[in-house]
Amino acid sequence: MSNAQAHSLTGDITLNGGEETPISVVDAENVHLRRKSVTGSLKLVNPEYVFSCQRPTEQTVQPGETETTVSGSIEDIYIPHDGVDGTVVIDGAQDVYIEPNAISGDIEIVGEEQLFYNQLTDSPYGYGAYDAHGLGWKRSVSVSDPKHGVSVTGGRSTAEITDVTTDIELIVSGWDNTVDITGRTATVTVYLLGSQNTVTTSPYIDIEIDTRAGVENTIEQEPVPASDIIDTTREEAYAGHLLGRDTVTFQEPATDKDYCPNCGANANAVVTRRQEDAFFVTNSPIYRFDAGGSSYECENCSLNAGPEVRLSEEERKQVLG
Ligand SMILES: [Zn+2]
Repeated sequence: MSNAQAHSLTGDITLNGGEETPISVVDAENVHLRRKSVTGSLKLVNPEYVFSCQRPTEQTVQPGETETTVSGSIEDIYIPHDGVDGTVVIDGAQDVYIEPNAISGDIEIVGEEQLFYNQLTDSPYGYGAYDAHGLGWKRSVSVSDPKHGVSVTGGRSTAEITDVTTDIELIVSGWDNTVDITGRTATVTVYLLGSQNTVTTSPYIDIEIDTRAGVENTIEQEPVPASDIIDTTREEAYAGHLLGRDTVTFQEPATDKDYCPNCGANANAVVTRRQEDAFFVTNSPIYRFDAGGSSYECENCSLNAGPEVRLSEEERKQVLG
């Protein structure tokens, strides 16, 4: 007879290490396996949905005699870094989320209803030390000028990531989480697991999707606004022309164009560049000698298309000493 431990628990729990392994977790609703959480292997028995950043291995996991049993009325179970030193068997979970590099050993899945595993790139995972973590239910995190990454694990949580100027990673794992990213000229590598999560970025961020495993997840980028491509508006061009003939140049959004006549690309922000030779009275052309032709440009071909260079708070401090 061994000294096996049995815990009956209710609600949301976290395995923080220290339990004898192998551990058996019975009938949890949601299981979140985070980065480097299990030093041994993982066996999933009869889970409903499995969302994974790691490919299940072909190996059978034989955990041996259970040393610790965790059961009861468990809603969410979180297994953080070093949470399980050995092997864990998860029996009868509803949703299981396996984040990047969560499991050091093998992953065996038996009797799942559906496995979502879809790694799209071979980009190496892992800064490891992230700038912010949202963990749990209805959490919100905000971080400015992150250097490594942000993770959101759980449900109905939000993350605001602003002033992104360095390449970062983003892990979104769970259900109905919302992430907003703003910044310029940086790459965000996304690991997205679960369902009904939304990631939105400003223009000028490059998104690289490493893993997209699940259903009804959305990753979208706000388009470049036409105003970013216009350097002189019609009003600005007319200003200061009180009386007399002059030639002015300005740009306007070409809202009837969804492709660019100049470069041929599909474009959101097509603008037309116009030149007018006109007689002005108090900032208005009252007679046009020549309305000129139109030329076009867009966010793909305009020299003006680029992020507005604003200094981050940290850069401002550095500049200002
Ligand atoms: Zn163009």
